[in-house]
Amino acid sequence: MNNPDKIRNLRRLLQKWGESNIINYPWRYNENPYFVLVSEFMLHRTQVKQVIPIYSEFVKAYPTLKKLANAPDNQIKKILSPLGLQWRITSMVKALKELWRRYKEIPTDFEQLIETPGIGNYIAGATICFSLNQKQTLVDTNTVRVSARIAGLSLEGEARRKAEVISIIEKFCDPIEPRKYYYSMIDLAHSLCLPKTPVCSKCPLLSIPCKFGSQIPELG
Ligand code: SF4
Repeated sequence: MNNPDKIRNLRRLLQKWGESNIINYPWRYNENPYFVLVSEFMLHRTQVKQVIPIYSEFVKAYPTLKKLANAPDNQIKKILSPLGLQWRITSMVKALKELWRRYKEIPTDFEQLIETPGIGNYIAGATICFSLNQKQTLVDTNTVRVSARIAGLSLEGEARRKAEVISIIEKFCDPIEPRKYYYSMIDLAHSLCLPKTPVCSKCPLLSIPCKFGSQIPELG
């Protein structure tokens, strides 16, 4: 989908839907990159419901990067242990302490973030996008599924690694309100654009038209 009017319409419809449907999780609309980064680490491969109480306890115990950097690892890991995935917890604590050692703060520079062991493209991009409301190309299961379906691209195989999928995510993202755009897309992916049974009949993006939705006989 290359038509600029259609892309503008997609951004508008998605964010209009988001105005009544974006869920106000405790880490959202937070301009402090430390809180955003912590939440993105926790959300990686973990359900939101599971993250909420752990996130709240964590930021209460360690409200600043400095406080976290001065705390013993075993104390920090005890709060994080209900998240599971021990390797992820170890990697998160190590990365946060390394950022303190290098910068004494959470940088909002993409290169500085991804140079830190344990921080990948998505977590780095999300930290910058959600804290600064700055456009980034966020490639994860949600943005891949929704964007590829709209554009009629295949989700077979490792779609997230395909150049055409990454390019469409970049092209679709709203440069003015990227934070609201992605919050809307992520929540749409969790509520309507479900992996196996998308609820296209209730989706605001069907009329763009979404290529996947418009191929369903009764909707097309
Ligand atoms: S119309 Fe269907 S496939 Fe397209 S974005 Fe909406 S829910 Fe997903």
